[in-house]
Amino acid sequence: MYWADELAASVEGPQVVNDSKTPSGTVHVGSLRGPVILDVISRALRDRGLATTLLYGVDDMDPMDAQALLTPDAVEREMGRPVAQVPDQAGGCHASYARHHAQTFIDTFAGLGIHPDRYYWMSDIYPTGEMDPLIRAALDRAEVVREIYRRVSKVERPAGWLPLSVVCPVCGKVGTTLARDWDGETVAFDCLPDYVTWAHGCGASGRISPFGGRAKLPWNLEWAAQWSLFGVTIEPCGKDLATAGGSRDRSDALAREVFDREPPLNLPYEFLNIGGRKMSTSKGRGAAAHRIVEVLPPEPLRLLFLRPRPNQAIEFDPVGTDAMPRLFDELDRLAAAVAGRPFRGELPPDAERLFGYVQVDPAGDRAAAAASYRPAFAHLALLAQIPGVNVAARLAEEKGSGLTLDEESLLARRLAAARAWLDAYAPDSAVVRVREDALPAEAAALDPAQRAYLGALADAAAPARPESGDAWQALVFSTATERGLQNGRAFAAIYLAFLGRPNGPRAGWLLASLPADFVVERLRAAARGSPAAEAAPPEADR
Ligand SMILES: [Zn+2]
Ligand SMILES: [Zn+2]
Repeated sequence: MYWADELAASVEGPQVVNDSKTPSGTVHVGSLRGPVILDVISRALRDRGLATTLLYGVDDMDPMDAQALLTPDAVEREMGRPVAQVPDQAGGCHASYARHHAQTFIDTFAGLGIHPDRYYWMSDIYPTGEMDPLIRAALDRAEVVREIYRRVSKVERPAGWLPLSVVCPVCGKVGTTLARDWDGETVAFDCLPDYVTWAHGCGASGRISPFGGRAKLPWNLEWAAQWSLFGVTIEPCGKDLATAGGSRDRSDALAREVFDREPPLNLPYEFLNIGGRKMSTSKGRGAAAHRIVEVLPPEPLRLLFLRPRPNQAIEFDPVGTDAMPRLFDELDRLAAAVAGRPFRGELPPDAERLFGYVQVDPAGDRAAAAASYRPAFAHLALLAQIPGVNVAARLAEEKGSGLTLDEESLLARRLAAARAWLDAYAPDSAVVRVREDALPAEAAALDPAQRAYLGALADAAAPARPESGDAWQALVFSTATERGLQNGRAFAAIYLAFLGRPNGPRAGWLLASLPADFVVERLRAAARGSPAAEAAPPEADR
């Protein structure tokens, strides 16, 4: 059974699925794994007929602690303030630093088919007073909180410590304050210059009510409080938080012992490793979520996250590799399997469910999606590089009928992805320039066996006139087998004849992307040998 269906089968009754994030800066594409997993769990629960609410929260009362992301004049003033209060550093296009980064990330969700029923921002929640009963419970049970930190995480808090971060009424910082002496209505607080190394408090002190947005709970308590506030029943979390004695263990214990509630079901998920250094230097594209969705269409991106079980790490290194084409190929293989078409290679388990979950629209027609004509990514990447090719017309020819509207839009997205891939990621071997004018001089390196092979390939292709990449590929192989030529040397011969180099992209697709007459003519020219050499006059005639 697919992992999300397994999880859905293990629960009963209405479900609330939650995730939240601190918008501390530009959000990496790996952070999409959580929202995609949440979405698929929600779909699986709804498929089972369970009433399901999907929540996505922004923990924007957390203190600003990323100095590098502030303009120099803002560092002293803004470090330690709630990220919701820090001005947008990216030109003021959003109401705050938090809104900028969180919203830029959240804006990618709809295109990926992720539609939380509700977004909540903690900076909106605290002022409503909804958190007040939970703040009161935490302060009343401060000793229990301290004991949990000690027992679960071996963290010792000083006597009198309160689980509360007051927002300093003077300087507005939340990361610099220490609270003590809860009297049931107010706490004493000090805004300390040296409480943390990364921000400086203003030195103010006094008594203040912790309610109505004047204070926040420390992160672990805030997390557990969200579960009580929203009635969360399922919350997967990243494995960095799920270690023994780590954040999740702490919040689970806090939920039980401070807020008297069973914590939600956890499903720890591993990271997506995306060739970090190479990505950040790759023509400036980087690995930000909102940049990757410009390159990868939603279905392959969902597949990237959904193919492995959540507890498996994902290695995705698109720079200088064929990782992206392979992802598309895998999607096409799933589609072929679901549509009952022949396909090559292995299928993942639960292919049909996986293909359904990869679709952007959960109510969409999966059979129609599977049956759609899907040009191979590498083929498109080739076509995109050959001048004068009308790609849509060419593919309609290969398909054997006009493209449907859905197929046209699939083609448009793939073609854009192929161009972006060629522009930013593709290995040199995928970047081709067909020498259309004449047989490349490099073809002089062909040996007699290779020339004979190319001649035989021309003889076979002239009557057969293969049209598809697969048909060409089959002919390339069968001719090599007949002539007893190693495949590697056969391919090298083709690349030399057309590209002037001994390697290249899949030969079948290369040949299919060119007019058949031109291919046959070029094969014959290469079989004869270099015309330039033949035309050179003998020395004696000068
Ligand atoms: Zn902005
Ligand atoms: Zn202060």
